[in-house]
Formats: sequence, C-alpha cells, structure tokens
Amino acid sequence: RTVYVNGTYMPEEEATVSIFDRGFVMGDAVYEVTCVLDGKLTEFDGHMARLARSLSELEIVCDLTRDDWLEIHRKLIEMNGVEEGGVYLQVSRGTAGDRDFHYPPEGTPPTVVLYTQSKPGLSADPKADKGIKVISVPDLRWHRRDIKTVQLLYASMAKMAAEKEGKDDAWFVEDGFVTEGSSNNCYIVKGGRIITRQLSNDILHGITRASVLKMAQEAQMEVEERPFTIEEAQAADEAFYTSASAFVMPIVEVDGVAVGAGKPGPVAKRLREIYIDESRKSAI
Ligand code: PMP
Repeated sequence: RTVYVNGTYMPEEEATVSIFDRGFVMGDAVYEVTCVLDGKLTEFDGHMARLARSLSELEIVCDLTRDDWLEIHRKLIEMNGVEEGGVYLQVSRGTAGDRDFHYPPEGTPPTVVLYTQSKPGLSADPKADKGIKVISVPDLRWHRRDIKTVQLLYASMAKMAAEKEGKDDAWFVEDGFVTEGSSNNCYIVKGGRIITRQLSNDILHGITRASVLKMAQEAQMEVEERPFTIEEAQAADEAFYTSASAFVMPIVEVDGVAVGAGKPGPVAKRLREIYIDESRKSAI
C-alpha cells in the first residue's frame, strides 16, 4: 500500500511517526473514515465538516483545506486501486519532541496520516442479509463522544466482550438508555416509526445517521429522535445500526432476545438499499 504521512506519499513499510507523538502517548488525535464505492468517495463533505469540528473543539490547528484533503484521498484511492473500501484519516496534535501533558507551542505541526483500506464486496456484505447480534454493556466512555477522537479502547473492549459471547457488536447503555453502538448509531422501528437517540455530546454525530434520517423522511417514514431502552429494543419490530463502513446494518438480536421476527426487517432493508444507491450516485 502507498500511504500518506505529513505531505509525502510512501510505501507503508517506510511510514513512521515520532514515539513522542501525542496521538501515540495521549490519544490526542482525531480521525475520519470515508467510504469508497466504485472508486469514489461517499459523503466526503460531511466527513470533512465533522473533521473540522473535531479539530476545532480540541484546538488542533491543521492548515489543509477541503480541496487538499480531497486531492490526498483521491490520489491514495488511485495509487492503491481501491474500488470498494475506505480511506482512514488521522490528525494528531504532533509533538514538540518529548512527552508532556501541556500542548506543544503554537506552530508545532500536527501529524497527518492517511491510508486506504480495500474491502472488495463491502456493499454486498452477506452479514446484512442475515442481520447481526448485539450485547449491551455500560457506557463508560468520556462525555465528549461528539468529538471523533482515536480514544477507542473502550469501544474495542466492548467489541471483544461481544465476540467472547459469540455476538457481533455491543450497544452502550447509560442511565438506562442506549447511547450508541461501539462504532455506529442505533435505531429501533416500532409500528412503522424509526426511533433513534437525539444528537448531543453523548453520541457521535454520524454522517450516515444524518443522511439516513433525511432519506427516511423523504420516503415518508416517520422518525422520532429520543432515547430508548434495551427492553424497548427487544420488543421492537426491527433494529439496525448505521455507519460509514457498514451503511445500514440490520440487528436481529439484543442481549439474547430476538428482535421482531429475528431476521432483517423491511425498513432496515429498504433504507440500506436507498442509502447505498444514493451514496453511489452522489459519490465524488
Ligand atoms: N458512533 C461511533 C462511536 C462511531 O465510532 C461511529 C463510526 N465512526 C459512528 C457512530 C457512525 O458514524 P458515521 O456514520 O459517521 O460513520
């Protein structure tokens, strides 16, 4: 693979960053993953807008413009021949040369890394036909989940806990309500109405979430933004999650209880089709 590090394209074996980089020692970095379909970027502007917001919330200064980012993404896709998959982008605060809790002085360049992840067959994932199973775990993350930081250890632990139980993913629960999935936004469907938690600092503002809700409304589906419980999900007609790399993914079991008929429901299936279709059309 050819990757990008701080202005240079190089083979991944040659790519290095400092052992003092704050992304490495403090988790002081933000990221984005933009999906690639037909060799083109989906939802690119949404991801770049959220990147700009994450950077600004953490006061990380990075001079690259939207057009610079686009050029880097496109070059990497081309150099690596990606048809389906994604581009991972990370910006850390960099380092002034030693481990330090204080931010480095103004003008210290951030560390910028991008690489492609080729996933042929992504849009025809057989998991979407079967649906996936989730467990719930307490949401023990910090309270700025709206900032897309690389601090993914707890999400990683949750996924491992799910795997240990033979399940696919985990839902986080806080104060009795589902916040979001380990790397996705969560939904239930009851009586034809799509229910998903409202935006706040408690969840990541999913780019896929925004588009899917818009498409649902355009398709005359009812949407209600409010928190829901595990019990409500278990008694729902359908459940699903959304993320840039999985689009709309049907969920057929929550904490050992089948949701609805225990197979992907019509709303999730339809939204998945609409979303993939529209994303292809608007990809750049
Ligand atoms: N929540 C969390 C915690 C995530 O990690 C992700 C995936 N990045 C999402 C939600 C979904 O966001 P998006 O649709 O922008 O991929």
